[in-house]
Parts: sequence; structure tokens; C-alpha cells
Amino acid sequence: MTAETPEQLFRKTLHARGYRVTPDRLRVFRHLLARPQPVAVAELADALQAEGTHPVTVYRVIDCLSALGVVHPVLLGSAVGFELSAPFRAHHHHLWCRGCGRLFDLAECELDPVIRRIEEVHHLKVEGHELTLEGLCDRCAARSEA
Ligand SMILES: [Zn+2]
Ligand SMILES: [Zn+2]
Ligand SMILES: [Zn+2]
Repeated sequence: MTAETPEQLFRKTLHARGYRVTPDRLRVFRHLLARPQPVAVAELADALQAEGTHPVTVYRVIDCLSALGVVHPVLLGSAVGFELSAPFRAHHHHLWCRGCGRLFDLAECELDPVIRRIEEVHHLKVEGHELTLEGLCDRCAARSEA
């Protein structure tokens, strides 16, 4: 048995929730799949306009995919980017330098024990989380001291 590709899983998710697989939804999904880092909706709209998707449609598709949990927002200072959620790509966190804007993926997630404890205390089943650590990289820190 071969594993499902992210796109097959995406088509299945849309069907299961009663949504049609439209060319616009597929384009947004494929674009995000090809991008290693979060993308601002305005930038996504720009990129997809060339492929025939109206910018307003891109905003609507992002709303729809957010509601379905396929994508989630990542806050970088006052900017917001979107990226695919697990299981469409591996669960990870971010490390962001607010000086130069470099963004690093953190593959390891050590929050599970903390979340289990919080669930017990608050009697609430946690379904997801998002974490971005921010600061200054060595280069930017040295520059700000100079
Ligand atoms: Zn990411
Ligand atoms: Zn930096
Ligand atoms: Zn995590």
C-alpha cells in the first residue's frame, strides 16, 4: 500500500466536509505545499493572479482552508503568514529573528507533556497549538550593540 500524498489527503478532507475540489482551492494548496515558509495572503494573491485566480478568491479560499484546519496563521511581529497544518506537512514551530526577518523551522516539539497537564487542570481537550519564538540572531544582536 502506498502512502497518500498531501494532495490526495486534501481532496479527501474537502469531500468529507462537503466542499468541492475547485481549481482555485487546489492552486492555493499546491502553492503552499511548495513553499517552505509561511506566505502572506497578499503575496499569495499576487502569485496566483498569474494563474488566473482572482485575489478576492484567494482571501476566500484562505478563510475556508483556515476553518477546515488545513492552514493556520503564523504571526511574525505584526505580519501574518499562512502555512499548511499537520498532517499536510509535519508539525513544527518557528524561531524568528525580528532584526533581519530570518525564520528557522524547529522540528522538535516538547509541548505534549505540558499540554496534557493543562488539559487536566482546565478540563479542555486541546486540539492544536502554534508557537513562534522570537528574538535577535547573533548578527543582529551585534549590530544593535554597535
Ligand atoms: Zn513553518
Ligand atoms: Zn537577524
Ligand atoms: Zn508543537
